[in-house]
Amino acid sequence: MKIGIIGGGASGMAAAIWAARSGNEVLLFERQSRVGRKLLATGNGRCNLSNTNLDFSNYHGEDPDFAKFALDSFPVSKTLRWFDSLGLYTVTERSGRVYPYSDQANSVVDVLRFALQQENVQILTDFEVTKARKTADGFLVESRDSQILCDKLIIACGGLAGTKLGGTMSGYQLLHSFGHHATKLRPALVQIKSSWQGCASLKGVRANCHAAIYHNGELYSESTGELQFTQYGLSGPVIFEISRDVCQGAGEWVCKLDFIPDYSADNLEYILECRRKKALPVEDFLTGILHNRLGRVLTQAAQIRGNRPASELTDAEIRDLCGIIKGFEVPLTETLGMDSAQVTAGGILTSEFDPETMESRLVSGLYACGEVLDIDGDCGGYNLQWAWSSGALAGTNAGGCV
Ligand SMILES: Cc1cc2nc3c(=O)[nH]c(=O)nc-3n(C[C@H](O)[C@H](O)[C@H](O)COP(=O)(O)OP(=O)(O)OC[C@H]3O[C@@H](n4cnc5c(N)ncnc54)[C@H](O)[C@@H]3O)c2cc1C
Repeated sequence: MKIGIIGGGASGMAAAIWAARSGNEVLLFERQSRVGRKLLATGNGRCNLSNTNLDFSNYHGEDPDFAKFALDSFPVSKTLRWFDSLGLYTVTERSGRVYPYSDQANSVVDVLRFALQQENVQILTDFEVTKARKTADGFLVESRDSQILCDKLIIACGGLAGTKLGGTMSGYQLLHSFGHHATKLRPALVQIKSSWQGCASLKGVRANCHAAIYHNGELYSESTGELQFTQYGLSGPVIFEISRDVCQGAGEWVCKLDFIPDYSADNLEYILECRRKKALPVEDFLTGILHNRLGRVLTQAAQIRGNRPASELTDAEIRDLCGIIKGFEVPLTETLGMDSAQVTAGGILTSEFDPETMESRLVSGLYACGEVLDIDGDCGGYNLQWAWSSGALAGTNAGGCV
């Protein structure tokens, strides 16, 4: 049997390796000049390929339960054994995040490329599929200058997020042409812009904090982890985790940051009162506790100014400063959009696919996997795990090797 797979990203490569295992002829079409280009940029170049603390609640979409079968049949443990069998050594951090031991995303792409070669998958790069349709003989896949006929077809084109790295509407358009429908596409795991001018002066500063987003005064989402200030707003894993659908509705959006989440307000107040005895100028009062630049911005925000020693700080000033450190408010305006988003929220309706095979309920012999479907995961390796699991399931079923 001849199986065509459109998209040489994470899910497409997994699907190709599994589809080829039972002796099928497998063709992998990739529009870019090499496979796995987006993978190289994942995890800041380290590729956070999975997470051992995976829970189904880490997944979202109109029907997140759709992802259960794939994640159960090709779970994290099996994925890690699979990568081990491909020659990839991995390391699991305390947070459960899994990375290649080499700390280089390149290693992940390399072992997948070697496996594709070993399984005799034909890789057609610079091959952008512009059209695909079902004929009496199978699926006719077309690029600008060629046509190839396949018995079965897997669409693994990814989502729209990360446009510069290959994110495209292509997968949605191809599936629309087969009669499939999509939910609204939104950027997720994305930086958020702020109208607060202070962000620029803190650009590059990282802090471990508790971040809580409020919409019209009501708690919308919250998490604890690393925050990074950017020229225009807020970024970092903690922001990615709570950025889903932020600023989509009208009204006031605010992020409240607690820069010392490990201590209660009372404890922090006591610590700062004791610190008053140190011979520090007020502008450096928080130096040694927080990043210098952040400490200065927070003392200024608490209206603590002037060329005076910290010993002159009043109890009221300490209390105000404590309030600012534990509840610094940053107004939010919009997210940075699809270009810089790590994943697309929304996608092709999962109700139109069989969760146990990834086969279309509308067109037999047509499969889809990965981000093009309406499933997205939290920050921490969950999106790539979805790509491996759904890709393996689609590949095994299309290949008839279940
Ligand atoms: C900057 C960044 C960092 C990320 N970091 C992480 C991380 O650390 N951990 C994590 O779990 N997730 C991460 N993600 C998300 C993760 O990379 C994606 O969810 C995952 O790659 C989706 O896999 P996929 O196979 O569905 O799509 P992709 O990996 O995007 O692959 C789709 C492929 O299809 C090709 N293609 C599209 N249309 C066509 C066509 N018409 N013809 C031929 N080829 C086509 C594309 O060029 C692309 O190579 C990150 C994303 C970004 C953008």
